Amino acid sequence: MKEYKMTRRQFLKRTGMAAAATAATSAYLNTTEALASTEVPAPRPVGKYIQSEEWADGAVIETDLLIIGTGFAGLWAAITAADQGVKSIAVVDKGSIGNSSNASMTGGGTFFLHPGEDKMDWMKELVPISDYLSRQDMWDDQLTTSYSRMEKLKSWGLEYKDMIPMVAPRVSIDGFKHVALNGNPVWNGLTAGKAVTGMLRDQMQKRKGIRYFSKTMITRLLKQDGKIAGAVGVHRVNGKAAVFKAKAVIISTGQCSFRGQYAVTEIQTGDGYALAYNAGATMTNMEFLSFETVPGVYGEEGACLKGTFGCRLLNSENRDFMWDYNPKDGLGGPARITTRAMAKEVREGRGPIRMDQTTFTFTLLGQRIWRSMLIYTEWQKLNEYRLDDTGHDVTEKPEIFYVGSFGIIGAVKADIGCGTTIPGLYVAGITLSQDPGMIKGAESARAMWSGQKSAMSAADYISHAPDVKLDLDYAEAERKAALKPLGRTDGRTPNEILFKLQEIIFDYNVSILKNESRLRDALQKVIAIKESDLPVMTAADTHELIKYYETHNMVECAELYLRASLERRETRECHYREDYPETNNKEWLKWINLTKGADGQPVIALEAVPFDQYPIKPPKEV
Ligand SMILES: Cc1cc2nc3c(=O)[nH]c(=O)nc-3n(C[C@H](O)[C@H](O)[C@H](O)COP(=O)(O)OP(=O)(O)OC[C@H]3O[C@@H](n4cnc5c(N)ncnc54)[C@H](O)[C@@H]3O)c2cc1C
Repeated sequence: MKEYKMTRRQFLKRTGMAAAATAATSAYLNTTEALASTEVPAPRPVGKYIQSEEWADGAVIETDLLIIGTGFAGLWAAITAADQGVKSIAVVDKGSIGNSSNASMTGGGTFFLHPGEDKMDWMKELVPISDYLSRQDMWDDQLTTSYSRMEKLKSWGLEYKDMIPMVAPRVSIDGFKHVALNGNPVWNGLTAGKAVTGMLRDQMQKRKGIRYFSKTMITRLLKQDGKIAGAVGVHRVNGKAAVFKAKAVIISTGQCSFRGQYAVTEIQTGDGYALAYNAGATMTNMEFLSFETVPGVYGEEGACLKGTFGCRLLNSENRDFMWDYNPKDGLGGPARITTRAMAKEVREGRGPIRMDQTTFTFTLLGQRIWRSMLIYTEWQKLNEYRLDDTGHDVTEKPEIFYVGSFGIIGAVKADIGCGTTIPGLYVAGITLSQDPGMIKGAESARAMWSGQKSAMSAADYISHAPDVKLDLDYAEAERKAALKPLGRTDGRTPNEILFKLQEIIFDYNVSILKNESRLRDALQKVIAIKESDLPVMTAADTHELIKYYETHNMVECAELYLRASLERRETRECHYREDYPETNNKEWLKWINLTKGADGQPVIALEAVPFDQYPIKPPKEV
């Protein structure tokens, strides 16, 4: 096997990056004995669980506002709606309330524009990173109001500790000069995402008029006279179904990862996308599906950062190939460049790809820093416990690494108040489309902003809305229809269908290296699943019934994803078309919007980004 030799420049660059990382964290490492050691921090309490209300099969639960999903967005929405005077709020989650969301497993790093900082400086950095498809009106509103949210969080007892203790309260990443991340949130003995969700749950429970329904999956929205009128929910354990009659609904159900291999994206099955789309809302930016580097045999978050800690990716010829694809940053560049390079290496027959964590720089310094940063992330902490339990030592030999799907970055299109085209229907969190960029910290910032914003809009709508009309015969028919598949054992299981779907979508030659013919072929296969497999999907028990709906939703998302990918004939952000490898600002500074047509087929409409109304303009020459 040929050993790849780094050039002197590359060596200096590598050691330089590691040295920078080391310098940045050395003060941090020196602060306490505990942090300086490679010991994994002690487990933390998980916080107080919220008891769910029980209901009889066939119940009609009346409420002013129904909030679906309790990550950062749903929790903020519930608190805000109560504070805005909404008298009756029903909060529903298919997991446990506020405790099984992605939000609760995140690092908790997020953005707040601090007093004295210039919003335009931030926008000049944030908009280009999403290749100019950002909703600048949303960024503007989000940044303008962000510090007030930080003050609220502080007043509720959440503390953002220094990112580098005693050295830097915030850090700039992704090559930003102005945009800076607050992180390391702590509340009541909890850290990272758990601290934020724990504290928000606590605040929510202090409000009056909120009812809780956990383990309840919303399977369909109900409309009457073109307006939102409620939803149908199915309990994942006892299989009972209820009708929620509501004047307004906020969907904050996360995104669609196709149950990808990236950390804790299991719950991201595109439920909110399918709910909104089938109710008539418009989807946008659906062609952007992001991928990350993931280990084959153990869990890990943020592996794409490992280049900065002295690791390298090797192909089967032992070549540290990332420098060929990204001469400037090697493995330190954006995940979309790394995953594209990995896919190309595999296609050229130089797979499998291994992450080499045996390097001198990593074993000596990198791993020490990596593990000492565990306080920042709940998910990575769990991974490290697991590695310790199993005695797996990542520094022993290079490990197989794959490319894993993080999720579709596009989502439901909304106005500046987070309202959809359907009166009474709002979206928040990563179910709301703001831009197609993968900016660390931006998703939770969006979730907090839009959770708050959507609830303010919904409260206003509710205060003006006459009593909601809901034809109870229609609602009951929809409720019964939701349970109809239950007990079907002949046919194809949801897992079988999901694996088939994943084989199509996760094919490197379909989603990472796209071209017209492969996308068309993939679309045909997805349509075949839709027409032949979905009608015979089994739902042997209540557990499988939930999977039945999740699989349905993912197949619908896959179709929209492939149709939008075919439509965008250029390369932009994580959407890479081999047949159109250049970014084409002349023709493609447009959003691709998808709406369900009268015949049930998606209708595609292109919408020019309104730069005449936006402060940040794209470069003319691209
Ligand atoms: C490992 C990891 C680390 C991350 N770290 C960060 C970070 O540090 N900073 C950052 O900004 N972002 C981070 N992210 C991105 C993160 O996903 C978002 O910031 C955050 O989760 C967004 O919150 P949300 O409320 O929009 O959605 P989610 O947290 O995904 O919550 C959605 C909720 O909806 C519920 N739900 C879904 N479908 C239904 C249904 N049909 N019926 C009822 N309930 C339903 C789910 O059970 C879930 O509780 C990370 C992501 C991962 C995977």
